[in-house]
Amino acid sequence: MIFEEGKIRELAPHVFLRPAVDNSLWADLGDGAVVVDGLEDAPLAPVIRDAVRQTTGQAIRWVVNTHWHRDHTACNPEWAREGATIIAHESAAPATPARDGRPDVTFSDRYTLRGGARQVELEWLGGAHTPEDSVVWLPRARVLHVGDLFGWGLIPLRAIAPESIARLREVYARLLTYDADVVVPGHGPTLTPAELRGFLVYFDDVVARVPALCRAGRTPAEVARAVPPPEDMRDWWRFADWKHARNIEQLCRAASALAE
Ligand SMILES: [Zn+2]
Repeated sequence: MIFEEGKIRELAPHVFLRPAVDNSLWADLGDGAVVVDGLEDAPLAPVIRDAVRQTTGQAIRWVVNTHWHRDHTACNPEWAREGATIIAHESAAPATPARDGRPDVTFSDRYTLRGGARQVELEWLGGAHTPEDSVVWLPRARVLHVGDLFGWGLIPLRAIAPESIARLREVYARLLTYDADVVVPGHGPTLTPAELRGFLVYFDDVVARVPALCRAGRTPAEVARAVPPPEDMRDWWRFADWKHARNIEQLCRAASALAE
C-alpha cells in the first residue's frame, strides 16, 4: 500500500493522482484536463489547478463529481469560475448555467466525455453511498475511480437495510467487471480489484453473522470481538482503529430490520 500524502503520482500515462485523505485524480484528454472530485478544502483549488498545469500543460476544462458530498465538491465553484464544466449525475443537483459550482452537464445512466485524444466514461451506480454515486473509468489507463463506494473497510452504505445491502452487492459485481489495474477511492490509498473482492467477503461475513448476535443481546463491543475482521484487513488504511467497530454498531442498529 503506497500512501504518501500530497505527493503526486503518475498512475499511467496522462493520469495523475494527488493522494490524500481526500484524493484528487486528473487526466490529460489532449485538449484539456479533467479532474475527478474536488476535496473538502476549497483553498486547495489553486494548488490542484497549478499541479494539473505542471503535470499536463493543460487547464482544468472539466470536473467530474462521483457524488455530491462536500468533501468531493468544495473546489467546484472556483474551478467553474475559471471556466471548467462541471459534470455529475442528474440526481446530484440541478444543472445550472450560473457557473456556481453546481453541475453544468448531468447524465442518467452513462456519459462519455470525449477529449481530443482520450476519453473517460462515467457510469451511474447509485443507491449505495448516495443516490448519485457514479464511477469514472479511464479505459486506456485502466484506472477506475469509485468515489466512496470503497472506504478501506468502512461499509459505505448511508443506511443499512435489506435493499441497500442487495444494491451494494450489485454495485460490487459491476465494479469487478471493469478489471481495472488501479482503483482509486475517494479517500486514502489506491487499491486493486483484489481488495474490492476482499471487502465483499468481509461484508458478506458481517452481514450474515452480526445482526443475530446483536438481537441475542450482545453489545456491539462483544460482537466486534466475536466476529473479528480477517487477518489481511488488519493493516488496511485506518481500518482497525475505528471502522470495524463502527460497522458493527451500524449493523446492530439495523439488526431488527435485518431479521427474516
Ligand atoms: Zn461521500
